[in-house]
Amino acid sequence: MKTIAVYCGSSMGASEVYRDAAIKLGKELVRRKLTLVYGGASVGIMGIVADTVLQEGGEVIGVIPTLLEQREISHHGLTELIKVDNMHERKHKMIELADGFIALPGGPGTMEEFFEVFTWSQIGLHQKPCGLLNVNGYYDHLLSFFDHMQQEQFLKPMYKEMNLVANDAADLLDQFSSFTHPGLKTYEKV
Ligand code: AMP
Repeated sequence: MKTIAVYCGSSMGASEVYRDAAIKLGKELVRRKLTLVYGGASVGIMGIVADTVLQEGGEVIGVIPTLLEQREISHHGLTELIKVDNMHERKHKMIELADGFIALPGGPGTMEEFFEVFTWSQIGLHQKPCGLLNVNGYYDHLLSFFDHMQQEQFLKPMYKEMNLVANDAADLLDQFSSFTHPGLKTYEKV
């Protein structure tokens, strides 16, 4: 693994713990010599992860759609800022560039990006690890819903396990290193 995509909030969240987790993740990426790919903004938790990686001497690639360049205030100090035409291109570019995908706490935008990369793995469009950094129990409700999906047989156990989860950046990245893809989703005819 050389490059990790981080999806996260364009807000700071209600507690300092989210900011602290973003800093910890940024430092861990640099410690492992991993390049950060992210949405290219300077706002919220997104800006904190990018600033931390840069301050620690690491490399950051931002991918920002022209539509959001002003609103999310694109980060001007990145190693590389890739401007794309729309949201779809942003996600595709990030998926193409990264060897693994982490969702820090974030809002609907973060979830949308995370679920796309997770479901693309299920159908075999890539075989890279993806996981949730469950800071402060932020994703506990979502993890309960994953259990519910499995229990009600809308999610196979092997794909629930494909969603890697940790409270700590180092733990999650260790899981990424030993990840093997469970194989393609198959469908049963009724
Ligand atoms: P949020 O988690 O809602 O704060 O959003 C985090 C990031 O996700 C922001 O940079 C949003 O621009 C981005 N985002 C929201 N929706 C999409 C989408 N459909 N495709 C790509 N990025 C998105």
